[in-house]
Amino acid sequence: MMLREILLALVICTGACAQVPGTEPVIETTPPVLPACQGALTQGGLVICEGTPGETFTVAGVKQVADSEGSAQFGISSNAPAVIGWTASDGSYGDLTIAERHDEFRTIKGFDCDKVDARSAEQKAHAARSWQIKQDAFATFHPGPGALNGFIKPADAPASSPFGPTRKYIGVSKVTGKPCESTSVHQGYDMAAPIGTPVVAPADGTIILADPDLYYEGGAIFLDHGHGLTSVFMHLSEVDVKPGDVVKRGDLIAKTGNSGRTTGPHLHWAVKWRNAQSDARSGDFYIDPALLLDLPASD
Ligand SMILES: [Zn+2]
Repeated sequence: MMLREILLALVICTGACAQVPGTEPVIETTPPVLPACQGALTQGGLVICEGTPGETFTVAGVKQVADSEGSAQFGISSNAPAVIGWTASDGSYGDLTIAERHDEFRTIKGFDCDKVDARSAEQKAHAARSWQIKQDAFATFHPGPGALNGFIKPADAPASSPFGPTRKYIGVSKVTGKPCESTSVHQGYDMAAPIGTPVVAPADGTIILADPDLYYEGGAIFLDHGHGLTSVFMHLSEVDVKPGDVVKRGDLIAKTGNSGRTTGPHLHWAVKWRNAQSDARSGDFYIDPALLLDLPASD
């Protein structure tokens, strides 16, 4: 062997690499092993595990069965710890590092107390009826890709208010003269859109609620993407689908509006993750739609 060939073999064969003189060096390449569970690893994000159909994954103590594509998906709550563990029924396991959120806290004074609360018997009946319609919808589950193919923005409009901030509203009722105070976390992703802006499905799914007049939400649509992931659209001026409709990403489903209890025309888009393996809805929570928009979207 010439010196040049020996040097070349040394360059290629780093690490344990046996070479029989006079033969081509055998280079063993091991493809990088991707962890089975990845996703939008931030508080309010989503873990996506990929394995074989029927395989069971457990993430942070919550169990899900992989669908026919081998996918299992898990919402990450807004107060998830810095590290969460995952295990699979094939014996593999790992840890996921979860980025912390830093949502702001805002106090809003001069709040119109009479605008939100249901006071009259008619308003209370409307609010109660709306609540039941929502509960019934959230109890239904449909198959679908979840976030497997990514999400697109549901309207061609700029984001105006993010998911996450806690808002404390302080005001005085013009009707009763009494002060009022309420604190809530903004659970959606607001987009500033003039009334009549088209709303499209951000991902494939099945319509599970389509109502032109819920008390707080106004015109509202719930779209079940599968894996318990459900988009909620509020304050719509036009609802162009009905429960049971199956829609594809990009399909027109509604027009934006200013209906329900709003402070101006906008689209409120929220995404709730529901644990499909549990009959109790108390453990469900909203996640950050902006993090879903960051996932790679397939064509
Ligand atoms: Zn909102």
